[in-house]
Amino acid sequence: MDRTEKFMKKMTEIEGISGFERQVADLIRSELKDTCEYEWDNLGSLICKHRGTSDEPRIMMAGHMDEIGFVVQQVTDEGFVKFLPVGGWWPGNILAQKVALSTRKGRVLGVIGSPPIHDMDKEKQATMPKLNELLIDVGQSVGYDVKKKLGIRPGDPITPITEFEIMSNKKMYMAKAWDNRVGVLIMAETMRRLAAMEHPNTAFGVGTVQEEVGLKGAKTAAAVCRPDVAFALDVCTSKDTTSETKGRPEKMGNGVGIMVFDNSLIPNVSLRDFMIDLAERHKIKHFLGILDHGGTDGGRINLSRTGVPSIYIAVASRYIHSHVSLVHRDDFDAAVELMVQAHMALDEKTVSSLRKF
Ligand SMILES: [Zn+2]
Repeated sequence: MDRTEKFMKKMTEIEGISGFERQVADLIRSELKDTCEYEWDNLGSLICKHRGTSDEPRIMMAGHMDEIGFVVQQVTDEGFVKFLPVGGWWPGNILAQKVALSTRKGRVLGVIGSPPIHDMDKEKQATMPKLNELLIDVGQSVGYDVKKKLGIRPGDPITPITEFEIMSNKKMYMAKAWDNRVGVLIMAETMRRLAAMEHPNTAFGVGTVQEEVGLKGAKTAAAVCRPDVAFALDVCTSKDTTSETKGRPEKMGNGVGIMVFDNSLIPNVSLRDFMIDLAERHKIKHFLGILDHGGTDGGRINLSRTGVPSIYIAVASRYIHSHVSLVHRDDFDAAVELMVQAHMALDEKTVSSLRKF
């Protein structure tokens, strides 16, 4: 594994569901060390600041640190854990998957229980269970009192467990939480490179909190950064797995996505065209993408104060919002290169031209 792959492994294997992102913030700081100054908003978003050759313009680049997961609702009398979803889950994606519960007594291993076909009649086999019918098994057995032994409390976070692995196609990486640790990694790698460069602005690389439950940290972090221009870094869904989306450009290995439309943000037109020109000029592989459902931190930052020219920059990922998702190395590298070049080009004059309508 090269340095980036080792960083990716750490970043995707640590636990950080919405509201519990501290391990992710700590990892960013330990990787970037003293290359940046650090600030926080009051919800827990981490802001890594690097001044180039000028205080202004202020450029905000945000990747949300949180992943989707669950919280404990209650421990049943039989010693199983009832849970609630945090973020958007489809029940089919979670059956028989491994999870970790963080309790006051430590980390508890569990599995989302799913019955074998032997115990189902034909009718049951044809239906999908509902989330609220599922239980997590933490090793309950006769003679073992789960409640007394494990110290599990309502509200304790529950996180998917998946190991980072490199596939036979060495550019394909399999991991949990690519949504959105890949955005955090793009932010951190860009900040690392900017620290050694003379960019004509001040860069604010942000790890936001609680995106998956309502784009929350983006709002509060923007109040700290007061950006003149903003980028949301996130995954988009890869459209290369079904024939329904044949011909769409959002594909693994197709470069960085310059996202032209989603439900939360229609990008500033001048910024959009600037990013397309920039990618063409620097021969960075890219596509113009659309997120058909959902939004990003960009939708919130764009509305802070009197409005901020914003755009969402993406890496396509297959199977997000499950335990196992995929990201392609070339797309990641293209995204970092595009963000570095954007910071090198966004001087005061260029940024003020984005606000002429
Ligand atoms: Zn996301």
